[in-house]
This record gives sequence, structure tokens and C-alpha cells, in this order.
Amino acid sequence: MARTLFIGTTNPGKLGEFVALLGPLGLTVKVARSADEVEEPSTDLLDGFAENARIKALAYARISGGVTLAEDSGLAVAALGGLPGIYSARFADVDLAAKKVLKDSCRPREVMDPLNNQRLLECMKGFEQPRRAALFRTAAVLATASARAGRGAEVLFSATAESHGWIAQEARGDRGFGYDPVFVGQDTFGKTYAEIDPVRKNLKSHRKRVMDELFFWLSKHTDVFDR
Ligand code: IMP
Repeated sequence: MARTLFIGTTNPGKLGEFVALLGPLGLTVKVARSADEVEEPSTDLLDGFAENARIKALAYARISGGVTLAEDSGLAVAALGGLPGIYSARFADVDLAAKKVLKDSCRPREVMDPLNNQRLLECMKGFEQPRRAALFRTAAVLATASARAGRGAEVLFSATAESHGWIAQEARGDRGFGYDPVFVGQDTFGKTYAEIDPVRKNLKSHRKRVMDELFFWLSKHTDVFDR
């Protein structure tokens, strides 16, 4: 019987990376779809990723009725007090004084991504190394809505991972998604994530690190798809 893993995300960039990273597991990967955007209620700039991922995983598991992976991730710059942090996807629409996303922010990702990068580069003006240091953080949570959990959902696994680097002086490259054009990895020889081959990004990224932890966990819990 084919083992199916549902992924709860509306972000095509992330989805592509997950599908590539999960390939070696030989699972059937399906997208768990929600009629409404699943809330991400935490306002904690860095620690909020884990809580938001947990809420998303449980919500998407209830929708899919199966083993479901959700992730919350973003970029954090210490010199900006951790911003964009949990506001990464909507940074261009954040009221920085109130640390709140503007209520009517509903522009699509392909519009937001370049605007977010532009705003970040503006915020970084005047900062030189080492104050351009930045990190991507991801929190991944696996949940299931199995017969064992009754009609509810339960968390099976959670982990966070980071990749470190710095913010470039200008956007470079046309690969990847989100902040990839402005993020230079510690181990990418001065190139932004958008300038390197996606296969190389997947060898080093925060998402690869968190998937390594998931693979290790799954190797010890081979029965999760049979429950
Ligand atoms: P989410 O899809 O709501 O979790 O938003 C995450 C946001 O963080 C994305 O829209 C991107 O802006 C950013 N982000 C997360 N991971 C990456 C990455 O690997 N590369 C570039 N941007 C990322």
C-alpha cells in the first residue's frame, strides 16, 4: 500500500523543496488543502515559528485525515531585533512601529517577495559586516489525525533548524523563492541562495537540516503510516 504524506503549505517554493528533499523516502506526497488560510497566531518574532507550525500541522492533519507535515519559517536579522521573523512572508506590509501586519495585506506571494526584499535592503542600509548577519529558521511539525487519535489530531514529531549567513548589499540571482536573492549562506562562497543551484541549496539549507531530523525520526517510527 502506498504510504501518503500530506504537506500543509500554500507556498509553492517550499513545496518544491519538500518534494525534492522527501524524494528518498519513496512516499506519495500530496498537498493538504484548506479552504481558508490557516491562522499563524504567534507574534513572537523567532520562537513563534514552532508554535505556528504546530497549529498548522494539527489543522492540516484534521483536513487531510492522514500523516501531515507543516512548516513555518522565515528570516531573522539580529541587527533588526529579529525582524522580519514571523512576519517574513508579509514584511513589506508590516507596520514596524506596531509590529503588526497591515489588516488589508492580501497581496500574492509573487508580489510580496520582491517587495519584502526591497524593504529588507532598505532597513539594512548603513549596516556593515558583521552586523549584516542573518539566519533562516524553520520549524517542522508532523501530525496525524488517525483512528488512534479519535477525531482529533496529534503531534508526532517536531524540530527546528537554522542556516546562517548574511544579507547581501543587493538582490542577486533568479532561483529559489522569498529572501533567497538577498541571503548569502555561510558556505555558498559569497553567492546568494538565488544564485546557487537548487540542488546545492537543498544540500545545506535549514529545510534540509530539519528534514534530516525527520528522516532519523521516521527510521525509528516506521509504523506511523499504518496506524
Ligand atoms: P510561510 O510560508 O508563511 O511560512 O512564510 C515563510 C516566508 O519566509 C516565505 O514567504 C519566505 O519569504 C521566507 N522563507 C522561508 N524559507 C525560505 C527560504 O528557504 N528561502 C527564502 N525565503 C524563505
